[in-house]
Amino acid sequence: MKRETIALHGGFDCDPATKAVAVPIYQTAAYAFDSAAHGAALFDLEVEGYRYSRIGNPTTKVLEDRVAALEGAVAALAVSSGQTALYYAALNLAEGGRNIVSVPQLYGTTYTLFAHILPRLGVQVRFAKSDAPAEIERLIDQDTRAVFCETVGNPAGNVCDLDALAAVAHRNGVPLVVDNTVATPILVRPIEHGADVVVHSLTKFLGGHGTTLGGIVVDAGRFPWREHRSRFPMFTEPDASYHGLVYCEHYGAAAFIGRCRSVYQRTMGAVLSPMNAFLLLQGIETVAVRLDRHLENARRVAEFLRADPRVESVNYAGFPDNPYYPLVQKYLGGRACSLMTFEVRGGSQAGARFYDALRLFKRLVNLGDAKSLACHPASTTHRQMTPEEQRTAGVGPGTIRISVGIEHIDDILADLDQALAAAA
Ligand SMILES: *Cc1c(COP(=O)(O)O)cnc(C)c1O
Repeated sequence: MKRETIALHGGFDCDPATKAVAVPIYQTAAYAFDSAAHGAALFDLEVEGYRYSRIGNPTTKVLEDRVAALEGAVAALAVSSGQTALYYAALNLAEGGRNIVSVPQLYGTTYTLFAHILPRLGVQVRFAKSDAPAEIERLIDQDTRAVFCETVGNPAGNVCDLDALAAVAHRNGVPLVVDNTVATPILVRPIEHGADVVVHSLTKFLGGHGTTLGGIVVDAGRFPWREHRSRFPMFTEPDASYHGLVYCEHYGAAAFIGRCRSVYQRTMGAVLSPMNAFLLLQGIETVAVRLDRHLENARRVAEFLRADPRVESVNYAGFPDNPYYPLVQKYLGGRACSLMTFEVRGGSQAGARFYDALRLFKRLVNLGDAKSLACHPASTTHRQMTPEEQRTAGVGPGTIRISVGIEHIDDILADLDQALAAAA
């Protein structure tokens, strides 16, 4: 099936118990065992079934199967937020004394996780000077356990060269982990370009309505853990925390997600509620049509801003003179994302006046809502960074980041126009 169809039908035909055609919300913490022997078989993973909703839930499973299908993956694990997805994915690969090599253009909280939190657990994250594959490769050593990038960096708007980054990672015996939140699998499937693990904040375009936090870790099922067993013994050696289970043996191609669920989700428990899984599934049904409108509106907004003398500069990868334009053609089917940044003429004070004058655009730190949103990264999402770190992340003091919604384009442009007038 095509992705537009998978978004509606992936992972679900109808409810096996009732024939309900909407995904039922299985609002339950636990599941009954037929007998002691049945309970034991479930705990030994010998039979299929549910035990406790921290480990698995039928509503959440539809979401997992649907996103796995959208990404062309073998398995997925849904969790409480995008940040949890990133945290679990990192810990599932890198333990104390190891490192991860990352591009520098990152979502603000991911940067904080990598720069400040993982190091406290003994996992160093090395930030490359740029997203150039050669800069990444320079930082890889024998303790590296993953290469990390965002398909489309937030808020820098850079597009990563996934084929080249995957080649660098694989040449060095480590997986490529990609945050595909901003692009979504509708624009690109990183697994088709060599990614081994994909993570998402479902809170953004996939959920699409700004109502529900959620995250997901997706497993391509292709990384040869056994071939690199000295680096990744956690997948090929018996796990004492799970009565000697060997993840590669038990889960086969889905060893990465099997371990993520059995080790991190089971013991750390950042669970997505079944109700939230349902709401996210509702959102995913329309992601492809929403994106069409988001992207078309964004193109009109970018052209409007670029032509306006009150605007200093516009960073939109859909312009042919943007350095990432060729990668937009190669990876995103020529469709640049609806996230863009720009500078209002007159510096940070004019930027602040513009921001305060917005009426339709909401002032907040979300993206990918159906509504138009605006954010001032330097004072919010990227506040914890030094000015130099902000520059590398694509954030200037007056930078405004917008996520263009699906309202009528005339109303969007009118709001930007009146706010620019107020700034000038
Ligand atoms: C929002 C976001 C996250 C974090 O997701 P939450 O669901 O808010 O925890 C991670 N990566 C990117 C690219 C994001 O936009």
